[in-house]
Amino acid sequence: MNPNDLIKRGKCRLCNSANISAEISLPLTNVADKYGKAPYEIGHKYPLDIYQCRDCGHVQIVDILPLNYLFSSDYTYKPSNNPKLIAHFKKYAKRVGENLGHHPKKCLDIGSNDGLFLECLRDLYNAEVIGVDPADSAVKAAEKKSIKTLKRFFDDELASEFIKNNQLFDHISANNVFAHNDDLISFTKGLSKVLKAGGIFSFEISYLVDIVEKGLIGTIFHEHLSHHSLISLNKFLINYDLHLFDIDYVDTQGGAIIGYASKTIKKDHSKNLKEYFAKEKFLEVDKPSYMTKFRNNLINIKNTFNNILNANINSKSRIIIFGAARSANLLIEFLQLSNIIDCILDDNEEKVGKYLLNSNAKIISTNKFTSKEIDIIIPLAWIHSENIYQRLKKENYKGKFLTIYPKVEILDF
Ligand SMILES: [Zn+2]
Repeated sequence: MNPNDLIKRGKCRLCNSANISAEISLPLTNVADKYGKAPYEIGHKYPLDIYQCRDCGHVQIVDILPLNYLFSSDYTYKPSNNPKLIAHFKKYAKRVGENLGHHPKKCLDIGSNDGLFLECLRDLYNAEVIGVDPADSAVKAAEKKSIKTLKRFFDDELASEFIKNNQLFDHISANNVFAHNDDLISFTKGLSKVLKAGGIFSFEISYLVDIVEKGLIGTIFHEHLSHHSLISLNKFLINYDLHLFDIDYVDTQGGAIIGYASKTIKKDHSKNLKEYFAKEKFLEVDKPSYMTKFRNNLINIKNTFNNILNANINSKSRIIIFGAARSANLLIEFLQLSNIIDCILDDNEEKVGKYLLNSNAKIISTNKFTSKEIDIIIPLAWIHSENIYQRLKKENYKGKFLTIYPKVEILDF
């Protein structure tokens, strides 16, 4: 990819206002899941600064990389490998029928990945299901399960094709893609067009309030373009005749929500939704002061981490990262780790043998790593820190474990 392919948005992704302000400056960073074949392979680093719209309050990244670069065929995430996610989607599928008041007949899932959610909907309701996903490996995995999947991005143009073929849906979902789409206007206009009146649109997003309050630096990467609050999103959805009426809180990725919006029919706001709106109003999430809080929380994490690290190492210390996670590249830059780490341990064989870009740090298979005497292990698959700690302890690792989540702390094995 040519670095010049980067596009800088001049307007807010939700309300098109040019009144957007740079609030949090983050280091230039390699794109997630891009690695080198050899040591010190040059990788171009791109901005990840966070902006807030002064009009609607939307918090967003405005430096946009081409989608086909971010979600190319080496995109490896497959939810069907994860037992927790299977349970999550089964529960979520039940909510679909409850919200509609009847079994859905025809469901569309945008960013359907390997078809896990659609499989749950098909099994529970015998519904006709269609997925849309741009990643080759995801589409192939879905098709093995006989989930019809269109290999492309969803937009207003695809919606027009559905309309031409008389395809309308009574349920549309977009899980963890509503934050990954730069052209949310075309996306939402399109999905509203193919949703029947009274039909429901549901979306899972990581939640701004959790990101700010807990300082979840690990949720920031180049494809995560929006950090949604309900206040900004609610105003936006109404423009497309979509009316938010309920939300579920989900304890994944440090805190996420599933929003439910009804097409045309305005349902009463649930008690839960009212409480969330009140909380966001109290916290003033759409105001600049909330970005000051975010900035201060991130600075605190960085300072605490570096103070602990420096107090526990010397020039000979062996420092190892656990988990070549999607968030690892920013965490390495943010915590200034690139010159002091030895290697990265990971279970994913597709990543093993590769190198961190611009670095000598190799990704080594956990199974093949025999030397257990390490001075410091830093888990950058941050969300799994607790499990990683328990696992390494059981495997008789010796040394210290320095985490950033759920809080910055150092533990002995
Ligand atoms: Zn805006």
